[in-house]
Amino acid sequence: MSISTTRKTALDALKKAEDKVKAAIIQQRKKQAISKEVQEALKASFPKKNTSFLPILLKRIQLIRKNVIPCVKLNKITNPVSKTDPDRIFHEYAIKQKVPAAAFPKRRYIALYDPHWTTHKPYQSGILIHEAFHYYFDFIRSKHSTTNTTINAYAYQGFIATLGGIPIGKTLKGNLDSIMLNKHILDICNEYVAPMSPSQIDICKELKRTLD
Ligand SMILES: [Zn+2]
Repeated sequence: MSISTTRKTALDALKKAEDKVKAAIIQQRKKQAISKEVQEALKASFPKKNTSFLPILLKRIQLIRKNVIPCVKLNKITNPVSKTDPDRIFHEYAIKQKVPAAAFPKRRYIALYDPHWTTHKPYQSGILIHEAFHYYFDFIRSKHSTTNTTINAYAYQGFIATLGGIPIGKTLKGNLDSIMLNKHILDICNEYVAPMSPSQIDICKELKRTLD
């Protein structure tokens, strides 16, 4: 999938999800039952939230659709990473961990790591949405919380993929199944930081904040 197709597929999915959430909010205002589809997606991704969360969710989806997906810089990073790349240490770690993509909000781009980005072909638009949530919202940046899924990028990715009709990959499925009992997958995703020398602890912290 070309990058522009990936963006377009992500935008279509976001728009579909947005329209369904909008319809549900209207139904709710009219004191009608909201669609089963939205109810189920909400329950799967945000089990502790009720329908009063829908307007907030709608706003967040709209922000990602308008402000991130169409314009965020996407940098393809291949191995070996260029020696002059200021984020080389993060990229090399990500590639080693087989991460398909990572958000670098402070540097204003999302990294796409070959070959793992390419091997995740069917899920690229979902991964882009996931990274976009990390990128845009600082409270969704640091980790994939199982206790508060409103700060977990997987939850947003799952909600939008379900309502927007894009495929759900194994990692996401694992996360959603358990929102989230699958500790193994969470560990992989949360532990991009390997122990480094003490002087690199700050880099580790930064890495943990940005790289997932
Ligand atoms: Zn993530």
